[in-house]
Amino acid sequence: MRRAIVTAAVALAVAAYPSGPLLAQARHLDSAMQQYVRVDAPVVALTHARLIDGTGGPARDDQTIILRGETIAAVGPAVSVTVPADARVVDAAGKTVIPGIIGLHDHMYYGGMKFMGVSYPRLFLSAGVTTIRTTGSVDAYQELNLKRRIDSLELPGPEIVVTGPYLQGPGPGPGAMHPLSGPDDARRMVRYWAEEGVTWFKAYTQISRAELAAAIDEAHRHGVKVTAHLCSVGFREAVDLGIDQLEHGLLTNTEYYSGKQPDVCPTVGDSAIYGALDIESPEVQRTIHEMVKHHVGMTSTLDVFELSTPSRVPEDQRVLDALYPAAATQVAKYYESGKTAHDSLHIAVFRKAMQFERDFVNAGGLLGAGADPCCLSAIAGYGDQRNYELLVEAGFTPEQAIQIMTANGAKILGFDKRVGTIKPGMQADLVVLDGDPVRTPRDIRNVDIVFRRGIGFDPTALRESIRGLVGLR
Ligand SMILES: [Zn+2]
Repeated sequence: MRRAIVTAAVALAVAAYPSGPLLAQARHLDSAMQQYVRVDAPVVALTHARLIDGTGGPARDDQTIILRGETIAAVGPAVSVTVPADARVVDAAGKTVIPGIIGLHDHMYYGGMKFMGVSYPRLFLSAGVTTIRTTGSVDAYQELNLKRRIDSLELPGPEIVVTGPYLQGPGPGPGAMHPLSGPDDARRMVRYWAEEGVTWFKAYTQISRAELAAAIDEAHRHGVKVTAHLCSVGFREAVDLGIDQLEHGLLTNTEYYSGKQPDVCPTVGDSAIYGALDIESPEVQRTIHEMVKHHVGMTSTLDVFELSTPSRVPEDQRVLDALYPAAATQVAKYYESGKTAHDSLHIAVFRKAMQFERDFVNAGGLLGAGADPCCLSAIAGYGDQRNYELLVEAGFTPEQAIQIMTANGAKILGFDKRVGTIKPGMQADLVVLDGDPVRTPRDIRNVDIVFRRGIGFDPTALRESIRGLVGLR
């Protein structure tokens, strides 16, 4: 299937979004790409779908969505939207269409921070994830190069928002990170990577307030942003320093620990800090209000927090299939061990993390989501899907959970005029699911087709191509 014609709509879309991926050449997909593509036509009509459009509004039945080139051209009830004569029609009766998932904490690594440049882009896409922010890179040049190849349609994968190497202080931490020696060093690092083209930074667990302040200031001078997985610095301190976003939520906020020393990450376990914590207490609510007041968004990563509650084992055969054999054996053992685990305190803490996120949203906070594919059973794509099930469990409506995973992520990235919702004029990034995730949250896993920039990818072909590769490359 060849995309020889660049339609007027595509040309317009490019003109309207000069910062987006350019389409200088006609959309010729070479054979390396074509093997993953199921639908590739200038005009596509998805008919009779259930639609969750990403705005948080209720799901609508029997909708037709017209894609023209890279753009969503029309959306509406099947009875009122005219299907163009030249459209390739995809009957979506019995299926649900959602916007492409935006993974805000979607690393490109697994197990010992090994770069997964081959398996992850395909795995993300197969799971319906069409945009990722890497949120702490292990090799920023690899990410920048991979991003360019995906942007030019040379490789299948999500749009990548590249984050610089972790901004980390000295002390414990994985070997891929540079230990900052002070504020000037933080500025030097931010300046260098901002000039190389990264658009976000992630500060990490051992950074000092002075280094974080310098990094934020330098990033903002370069028009780029800073998020953080904190520990040595509390959430309110980071908000005061002007941070743009915060990762993970409650269980990385140490400011409630009575023994907290300035600039020091406590070495006590979660239960010592959060076991007796009351989310409704004025202190916790004050954090939420200060974040909301300063427009500091937050990334929910419930799927990776779930790994800290030993009895809650998110068994997923697809994870075992994707991992290389030695890692699959290890994860199978972990799945088995969950069956006899006792962890009532861990479960109580996990519930508090959920409540913190709910309260944050109820107070007007902007919550996105990400998978944190790092380790054990948390891998690209499937972790993002698990987040949907967990957000619903946390008390969000299905439509809110989809909004958190799509439109809110787009807002946090500043991409919301282009992606994150299903409306005319938006980029054609959307996921066709078999079934109805409103009634059955697990249906989020049943991806039928993933459209990115109007190209309909085949999740089975993508998934089969990386069988046994996750953990290796
Ligand atoms: Zn992470």
